[in-house]
Amino acid sequence: MKYSYDPPDIIKKLFNVFQWNSNSSKILFTFDDGPIPETTPWILDFLNQNKIKALFFCVGNNVKKNPGLVNDIISENHVIGNHTFNHKRLTRLSGEEIRKEIFEFNSILKKNFNYDVKYIRPPHGRFNKSVVSQINKANLKPVMWSMLTRDYKNDLNLVKFGISKYLQSNSIIVLHDSLKSKDIIIDSLKFILEKVNEKKYHIGEPSECLR
Ligand SMILES: [Zn+2]
Repeated sequence: MKYSYDPPDIIKKLFNVFQWNSNSSKILFTFDDGPIPETTPWILDFLNQNKIKALFFCVGNNVKKNPGLVNDIISENHVIGNHTFNHKRLTRLSGEEIRKEIFEFNSILKKNFNYDVKYIRPPHGRFNKSVVSQINKANLKPVMWSMLTRDYKNDLNLVKFGISKYLQSNSIIVLHDSLKSKDIIIDSLKFILEKVNEKKYHIGEPSECLR
């Protein structure tokens, strides 16, 4: 059960080109797959109310459709990371196709928002040698996680179970800015914050957690 929330240490060691835990003893919040009008505004409100700065691994297609939300994320001092343009499984693509998926995301952020992307998370956490090589060529830092909340199952009890059992002081938490978790995302965030406070953990900004 543990490994469906927190990957085994051997995997983290073997693939240490990826960052799995926060570098400071602070928790990092990350949100995958947005931005979308159905969830992003509520997530941003929650983060602002609680003075949390997060890392949003956005999908290029959603960036294209929702430029206003991208501007909100940037102007509220959160960080945007590359989650590729079309959210395909990169391990099924050729080197050139992988390069395009990564490059086109960075390109739209630069062109439309004058934003330089620093971080990447491959869709579904899937990678191979070819994916790693293209990430390196694009000069991006790959960020994975140590606390998968499994919020995409749309079951608040699963999130509560995982957080209660496996949250640590240096966890990188994955949540979803997507329709899959729409109904439980805010309650999940409230629960996580409650646990963070109860355990006297601290929440960090992306730059300090990923330095
Ligand atoms: Zn994703």
